[in-house]
Amino acid sequence: MAWHALNAHETIRRLRTPLESGLTTEEAARRLAQFGPNQLAEARRRTFLQMVVAQLKSFVVILLIVAAVISGIISISQHEPLVDSAAIIAIVILNAVLGVIQESRAEQALAALRQLAAPEAQVLRDGRRQTIPARDLVPGDIVFLEAGNYVPADLRLLEAINLRIEEAALTGESIAVEKDATSLLQENAPLGDRKNTAFMGTLVVYGRGRGVVVSTGMRTQLGMIATLLQSMEEEETPLQRKLDQLGRTLGIAALVICGLVFLTGILQGGNILEMFMVAVSLAIAAVPEGLPAIVTISLALGMREMIRRHALIRRLSSVETLGSATVICSDKTGTLTQNAMTVTRLWVDGTFIEINGRGYVPEGEFTINGQPVDFNEYPAVLTALWIGALNNDAVLEVNPNNGENAYRVVGDPTEGALLVAAAKAGALPEQLQMAYPREDEIPFDSVRKRMVTVHAVRAPRADDASPFNETISPNVHVITVKGAPDEVLRLCRYYQDRYDQPQPLDEASRQRILQANDAMTREALRVLGVAYRVVPTLPEHTEPEALEHDLVFVGLIGMIDPPRPEVIPALQKATRAGIRTLMITGDYPNTARAIAEAIGLLHPHHQVLTGAQLDAMDDATLQHEVQRTDVFARVSPQHKLRIVEALKANEEIVAMTGDGVNDAPAIKRADIGIAMGITGTDVTKETADMVLMDDNYASIVAAVEQGRIIYSNIRKFVYYLISCNLAEIFIIFLPTAFGRWLFPVAGRVLSPLLPIQLLWLNLITDGAPALALGTEKGEPDIMDHPPRPPKEPIINRFMQIGVAAQTVAITAATLLAFSLGLRQDTTLAGTLAFVTLSSSELLRAYTARSERYPLLKIGVFSNRWMNLAVLSSMALLLMVVYVPFFNPIFATVPLTWEHWKLILPLIFLPAVVAEITKAVLGMRKVQR
Ligand code: ADP
Ligand code: MG
Repeated sequence: MAWHALNAHETIRRLRTPLESGLTTEEAARRLAQFGPNQLAEARRRTFLQMVVAQLKSFVVILLIVAAVISGIISISQHEPLVDSAAIIAIVILNAVLGVIQESRAEQALAALRQLAAPEAQVLRDGRRQTIPARDLVPGDIVFLEAGNYVPADLRLLEAINLRIEEAALTGESIAVEKDATSLLQENAPLGDRKNTAFMGTLVVYGRGRGVVVSTGMRTQLGMIATLLQSMEEEETPLQRKLDQLGRTLGIAALVICGLVFLTGILQGGNILEMFMVAVSLAIAAVPEGLPAIVTISLALGMREMIRRHALIRRLSSVETLGSATVICSDKTGTLTQNAMTVTRLWVDGTFIEINGRGYVPEGEFTINGQPVDFNEYPAVLTALWIGALNNDAVLEVNPNNGENAYRVVGDPTEGALLVAAAKAGALPEQLQMAYPREDEIPFDSVRKRMVTVHAVRAPRADDASPFNETISPNVHVITVKGAPDEVLRLCRYYQDRYDQPQPLDEASRQRILQANDAMTREALRVLGVAYRVVPTLPEHTEPEALEHDLVFVGLIGMIDPPRPEVIPALQKATRAGIRTLMITGDYPNTARAIAEAIGLLHPHHQVLTGAQLDAMDDATLQHEVQRTDVFARVSPQHKLRIVEALKANEEIVAMTGDGVNDAPAIKRADIGIAMGITGTDVTKETADMVLMDDNYASIVAAVEQGRIIYSNIRKFVYYLISCNLAEIFIIFLPTAFGRWLFPVAGRVLSPLLPIQLLWLNLITDGAPALALGTEKGEPDIMDHPPRPPKEPIINRFMQIGVAAQTVAITAATLLAFSLGLRQDTTLAGTLAFVTLSSSELLRAYTARSERYPLLKIGVFSNRWMNLAVLSSMALLLMVVYVPFFNPIFATVPLTWEHWKLILPLIFLPAVVAEITKAVLGMRKVQR
C-alpha cells in the first residue's frame, strides 16, 4: 500500500489506531503474533557441519590426519591392528567436538549480547508514552522520534517539528532530508521524495516528530533492500592477532626443528618411519592448539562479568584496551552526578528565593530570607517558573501506588526539575500547556546551549465563563527561551522587574545578573536563564535570528544535582590505579569546579579550562595544558574531539563518554568510546565500544578493573601453555638429537613421548587447567599499580624469565624420570616420563594462578574450577595408566608405589621452581 499517498487521518483509520491513546497492550500483542517481530532477518548462522569443517581446517589437525593415514598404511602393510591411527583420529574428533561446543557457546553469548544492545523505541500505548524494544513494534503503533534516534520502523509521519532525517542507509544520500507530516504525494514518488515518511534504519539528526508504524521487519523499505544493519563487529582483537602470530611463529620454528630432528635422527641411524612419527610429535608439541579457543572463551566470560557490572562491551577488543586505559574523560551530569535535579534557588530582579522540598514531589515552600514569599509581591517569580515549565519537553508522571516514588520524570531531568518547581508554586504543566499551546520550537542542542518555544495564548471568551470555552487570541504569541544564562542574556534587551514589568537592560543590571549567576554556580548549582518576548505576528520561518532578539530577561533558576555517592571511592580507586579522570561538561566552570572539588576529582595544582579558552589555544598548547587540567567546562561536543586528540598525542589511552548525536565523533576517536545506556542516543551507542547501562562513572572503573583481570588471566594461561609446549619440544628434541650422550643405555634413537601421548597432553590435560586460569578472580591489588604500557608484548621480560625457568624444570624432571625408567624398560620409561610431565603440569597450574603472589597467599584451593579441572585431568591420566584397555594404545604400563616414590619429587619440582621464581622476581620488583 502506498501509505505516503494517504492523508494522516486516513492512514490512522486504516490502521485502526486510536490517535490519543495508541494501541492497547493486548492489541499490540495480537498484531505482534500476526506480523512477527520488527527485525531484519539475520545473516544465517553457520550450520553444525560448517563449524565442524572449520575445526578440521587447522594446520595441526591436517598434520594429524596425515600422520594417522601414514601410520595406518604402515600398520596395514605390517599386518598390525590400526591402534595408532584409530587413536589419533579419535582424539581429532574429540577435539573437533569440543571446539564446536565452545564455539557455539561463544556464538550464543554474542547473540545474547546483541539482544541487550538492541535498539529501543518510544511508543504511545495504553495512553502512555513508554519505551519498548524496537523489535516489539507493530503496524499501528504510534512512535515518537527525537534527534539521535534511529527510526525503528517505517512510519507515516503525523507530526514533524523541524524534523530532519539522514537517509544514507537507504538512499546513500548523506544530506539530511527535511520531513513534513502534511504533504501528500503521488503513489510512485521516489523514496528520497517521500517527505511524510520516516524509514526504518535512517537517522533523526534534528528536531522531533511522531508517526504511525505502517510496516515492520522485512516489509520495511530497508528490509526489502535487505541490507543488513550494522551489527556487532566480530573481528579479531589485537591480542588474538598477537597470539595467532605467536602460534604461527612457534609452528614454523617447530617445522624447522622437526626437519633438524628428522635429519639428525636418520643420520644417527634411526628408522625413517619412526623419525617421521617423532617429527609429527614435535609439531604437535610445539603448537598451543587450545590457546585461541581459550582466549575467546575467557574474553566472552569477561564480557559477561562486565555486564553484571553494568558495562556492555560491543567489541571484544575493548576488553583488552580497557585494561590499559590511562585517562577517563567523563561527562558530569548524570555520570559523576545523580542527574536527580532539584530547583533550590531562584533569582529575580535582585532577590534570591529559596525553594525547599524533596525529590520530584511537587510540594515545597518559597522563602526569602526565611520568610514565605507572597507571589503578589513577586509576580515575576511565577513568570520565571512558568517559562521553565512551558519551554519544556519532560513529563511529570504520577503513580500514587508507588508511595515514596510516586512522582517520576520522563525526559531530561533538568527539565523535570523545572516542572516540579512550577508545580510547587501551583502551576501544573497540563494547565499551563492548555493556556499556552505550543506552536513552534527550536530544540535544545548542546552547541547553542538553549532552547526556544513559541506559544499561542488562550483568552477566556467574554460571553462565557467556562474555562474550556476559550479562544486563541489572534494577535498574541509568546516566544520563550531557556538555556545557559550568558547565552540567554546576550539575546535580551530588557529585564523583568519583580512586579513583572519589562525594564531596559542597562550595563549595571546586566552585571548584576552575571554576578548573581556567578554566586549561584559557585555553590555547585546548575543555573538556567529564562527570557521571553511577546509578538503580535510570528515570523514566516522558525529561524533563530527571527525569534531570538529583544528578549526580556526574567530570572535565574538554580538546581542542585548531588554527586553519586559511589563515585568518590571509584575515583580514588582509579587514581590508585594510575588512571586520571577528567570532567567534561557543558555546565559553568564554577558549578563544575565545586562538584569536582566535592568528589575529589580536582587535584590541588590543576586547573579548570573553558571551551572559550580552549578555542584560543593551538593544538600544541592544548597538548601541554591538558596534562594539568582536570575539568573542562562550557565545552561543546567538538571540543571533546580536540581533547581526545590532545590526550592521544600525549600517548594516553583515552576512554571518553558521551550521549548526544554530536558526541559521536569524539567517541569514535577515543580508544574506548563509551555511550550512556539511559540518556545516550542510538548513534552514540552505535559508535561506542562500550555502553554504560547505568550511566555511572563507577561502572567505568569497574569495567577497567575487569579488563585488567581478564588481561592478567590471559597472561596466566599463555604463560602456562607456552612453557608446557616449550618443555615438550625440548623433551622430544634433546633425546633425539643428543640421545647417544644423554641415554647411552638405549643404544638407539629414542623419543620419550609418543605422538598420541603428546596429543592427549595438549588437547585433554592442559586445556582444562588453562581454562580454569581464565576464571581467576584477579589479584586484590590489581588496581594498585599503573596501567600496563599498551605496546608491551604479552610475553614481557618477567614472563620470559618464568617461561625459561619452567621449561628447564619440566624438561629436567621429565627426562630424569625417563632415564630412571630406562634402567629397566623403555615402555616403563615412557610411562614414567608421561606421568611425570602430566602431573607436574597439573600441579604447577596452581602456581600459575598468580604471577606475583605466592600460592599460599591466594589460597591453594580457592579456584573451584581449577580444582575440578585438575581432579578430572588427573583421573583421566590415571585411567590411561591403569585401565588395561588403554595400555596398548598409549604405550603405558601400570605404575607401582615404588615407581611413584621415584617420580614424586620430580612431579613437585616445576611447581617449587615456579614459586621460587615468583619470590625472587617479586623481590627484585621486575613486576608485571
Ligand atoms: P551538561 O549537561 O554537561 O551541562 P550539555 O551540553 O547537555 O552539558 O548542556 C550545556 C548547557 O546547556 C548546560 O550547562 C545548560 O546551561 C544548558 N542546558 C542543558 N539542558 C538544557 C535544556 N534542556 N534546555 C535549555 N538549556 C539547557
Ligand atoms: Mg546534558
